[in-house]
Amino acid sequence: MADTLISVNLSESPLTNENIHNRWHPDIPIGVWVEPGDDFKIETYDWTGGQIANNNDASDVRDVELEQVHYLSGPIGVKGAEAGDLLVVEILDIGAKEEMNWGFNGFFSKKNGGGFLTEHFPEAQKSIWDFEGMFTKSRHVPGVRYAGLIHPGLIGCLPDKDMLDMWNSRESALVATDPDRVPPLAALPDGGPTAHMGRLKGEARDQAASEAARTVPPREHGGNCDIKDLSRGSKVFFPVYIDGAGLSMGDLHFSQGDGEITFCGAIEMAGWIHIKVSLIKDGMNSYGVKNPIFQPSPMTPKYDDYLIFEGISVDEQGGQHYLDVHIAYRQACLNAIEYLKKFGYSGAQAYAILGTAPVQGHISGVVDIPNACATLWLPTDIFDFDLKPGVDGPKKYIDGSVDIPLAPDL
Ligand code: ZN
Repeated sequence: MADTLISVNLSESPLTNENIHNRWHPDIPIGVWVEPGDDFKIETYDWTGGQIANNNDASDVRDVELEQVHYLSGPIGVKGAEAGDLLVVEILDIGAKEEMNWGFNGFFSKKNGGGFLTEHFPEAQKSIWDFEGMFTKSRHVPGVRYAGLIHPGLIGCLPDKDMLDMWNSRESALVATDPDRVPPLAALPDGGPTAHMGRLKGEARDQAASEAARTVPPREHGGNCDIKDLSRGSKVFFPVYIDGAGLSMGDLHFSQGDGEITFCGAIEMAGWIHIKVSLIKDGMNSYGVKNPIFQPSPMTPKYDDYLIFEGISVDEQGGQHYLDVHIAYRQACLNAIEYLKKFGYSGAQAYAILGTAPVQGHISGVVDIPNACATLWLPTDIFDFDLKPGVDGPKKYIDGSVDIPLAPDL
C-alpha cells in the first residue's frame, strides 16, 4: 500500500495547509522528499479550493475568486534531482476523494474569467456531474453518460529564478498591449493575501508572492496544460530547473474535451493521485527537451465512432482570418453546438458536453491559404440516442425540462 504523503481536508481551507501552494516560485520550500523509484499518493483539492457547491445555483461560479487558483499539492522533492535532468512521473492511478463523489463544470462570466465562447455565453452557468465508479452523468445535462479519462489538469516542477523572470517579462509585455481588456490578456503576479506560498512566511513570503507566477497558463515546465490524454496510466518526462525538482500537481479532472473550452472547464474534482518518480540525469540536454513529453495510457475509453465537425478561419461576422487555428476551432465548436440544439439541447447544455466529454480536437490543415481547418470529433456512443444525420431526423430527444442553472451578472 503506497503511503499518502500529502493529505487534504476538504472541510478546511487550503490556505491553512502548508503542503499546498497556488503560485510558482523557486523559493516555495519543498516539504516532502522522496527517493527515485518511490511510489506514493498525493491528495488534492479541487482547483478552486472548495468554492463551488453541489447545488442548482450558479452564483458561486459567477462570484468565484480567481485570485485563489489553482491550489496545488506540493512541492515534492526528489533526492538527487538537479537542473537539466528529466523527472519521470508515472501516473499509476487517480480517483475522487471519497467524501466528494461528484464534480462540476462551469462557464465563467465574461466579467470574471470568461471562456473560449464567452461572447456567446457571457453569463455564469454551472452543471454538476455525479460519479458512478468510472462513469459520470449530470442532472443538468440529460441524454449523455460516459467513462472518465481522469487526469491532472496541472502538473509540473518549480521554475528557477531566470525562468520565472522570463515568464513575468513576456507576460507583462503582452498585457501592456491592451491593459484594460476584459477578460485580461494574462494573469500577472499580484502578491495578494490569497497568494499561498506554502511554508514560506513573513517578509520572504511577501517578497516572493509579489513576483510569483500565477498558475493559469501552461508554460515550459508543463503546468496548466489541461491535456485529457495525460491520464491514469501515462508516463510524463518533466524538465527540472532546481535541486530536488519541486514537483506539484492539482486541478484533477474526471473528464475533459480537447481544449477545455468552457475554461471551468472540465469536470473539476478533488481527489488523489498515485505516482511513481524516477530521474534521467541530464535528460533535457541529451534528448533536446524544452517542454514536457509524455507517453499515453495503455487504457482509454473505447469510443471510436465520431461525428466530426469542421471549422475554418472565418469568424461569426464573416471576417476572413489568415490560417487562424483558434478561430477555426471556435467555428467547429459552434457548428457542433448548433447541431446538438436540433435534438433539443440548450446551447449551454451542448457547450457543457463539448467541454466535459471525451471529444477530440484536431488541427486538420494549416497551409491552405487563407483558411486553417480545425475539426471537433464528437463521440456518438456517449449519447442515449442516435445522433447521426439521416433522412427522418433530427428528432427532439431532449425535452427541455431541465437546463444548466444560470446566474445573471450583478
Ligand atoms: Zn481544471
